[in-house]
Parts: sequence; structure tokens; C-alpha cells
Amino acid sequence: MTNYSPYIFRIQRYSIHDGPGIRTTLFFQGCPLRCRWCHNPESHGRPERLPEGEMPGLVAGLVREIEKDLIYYDDSGGGVTFSGGEPLCQPDLLAALLAACREREIHTCLDTSGDAPAAVLERTAPAADLVLYDIKAVDVRLHERITGKPSDRILENLVRLEGLGVPYRLRFPLIPGYTDSGENISEILDFLVAHTTCRDIHILPYHNTAEAKYRQLNMTPPRITTPPEPAAIEAAARRFRDCGFKVTIGG
Ligand code: SF4
Repeated sequence: MTNYSPYIFRIQRYSIHDGPGIRTTLFFQGCPLRCRWCHNPESHGRPERLPEGEMPGLVAGLVREIEKDLIYYDDSGGGVTFSGGEPLCQPDLLAALLAACREREIHTCLDTSGDAPAAVLERTAPAADLVLYDIKAVDVRLHERITGKPSDRILENLVRLEGLGVPYRLRFPLIPGYTDSGENISEILDFLVAHTTCRDIHILPYHNTAEAKYRQLNMTPPRITTPPEPAAIEAAARRFRDCGFKVTIGG
């Protein structure tokens, strides 16, 4: 089997935070963003270029890994989640895996930041059963300050996803000092109410479990060290609920 680690840096089994039921999560190498609180800094390298002719072997090997957990998917209504990093950074591999899973009737989630060319989203998202779409900020400068990239393309792609008719759910990382201001939440709500119909949002409170990982990689850990207080989580949840959203805390 082709070594998958330059393309998929981790396979996590029995995940209950990455979509419905019990799931196997494949973490794709590569991400265009640099969120100040990133939990997966090992994804920040560039994915290697797959040598010509090796795609079928890589996909077959990964599908074998995915199929090892079929019994858990069937019992729990779960499946496989393609996460990262940013899976849209490797569109050919993602498209091949989505197609292989659909052929086998394995439920798929695409977990994305949305920062990708429109053509990549249009090619891959309709092949997923559910998209988990992150929204971190609307204000262009705030988004750039906290993730390294402006928000325009991400917001345009969210509207595009809506137009494609692909089922999706929203995810809002609640990060003290970065995304948790009342103003940011108001701007997100205004945008969502004006441009989307999805009213299912998962609030993902910051947790500091990645610090050890940063040290292992000789990288400076994020400056935030304290997860949001329960009262702050509840206050954010109430803002979304008041606008008609079904709110879930966590993945
Ligand atoms: S989008 Fe995700 S993987 Fe990429 S930098 Fe942000 S938190 Fe990290």
C-alpha cells in the first residue's frame, strides 16, 4: 500500500465529535489558514505531490482503513469524516475517497473551513452526505488577524454551498479573545440570517489540549490558555437560539 502519511496525517477511530454517530476521521495534510488557536499544527505543512499512478493504491488502502469500522457506523448511524488541515487542499484525493464511500454506501462528512477555489467546492461538496462548515468571523480584517486570511472567499463559498443544495451544518469555534466578542457574534448572525437557511450550529469551545503537540513540533503554543467560562458559552448559545438556531455545544 502507498504510504498515506504525507497526505493524511492521522486516522482517528471512534470519534463522536465529527458528525453524526460513531465516525472514523481522516485528517488531511495542508491548510491555507493559520488560526491562532489551531489544534492541528501538524497539518500546516504542504501535502506532498502524489506520484502519477499512485492514486488508486492510496485510495484503496484508505478505504480498507475506513471499512475496518463498518460495524460501528451501521450501529450508530455514523460513517467517515474528512477533516484536516483542510481536505479541499487535496481535491483529487478527496473526490476519489468521497466517490469510493458513496459507492459503498458509507456516510461521509466533509469538515471544511471553506477557504478554497469555488470550483473545488463545487466539485467535491455535492459528493458528501453532510458538510460541516466553519464560520469564525465575518469582518474581513478580524478574520485576517485571527486566521491569516480574509473572510470573503469563505463567506462566498458558504452562499455557494447553500445554492448547491448540499446538507450542511455550521460550526463556530468560541475562542476567548478572538471570536467571542458580542460584535463578532452579531455580525455572524446578521450574515447567516441574511444569506443562509441552515439553523443548525455547533459551538466549539476552545480547549487547550494541543499545547503538548506544539512543544513536540518545536512550535510556539497558542497564547490562549483558558477555555471559555460556562457562562460565556451559554451567553453565545443564547444569542444563536434567540435568532432561531438549534444550538449544540461541541462537535
Ligand atoms: S482551519 Fe483548522 S486546521 Fe486550519 S489553521 Fe484553522 S484550526 Fe488549524
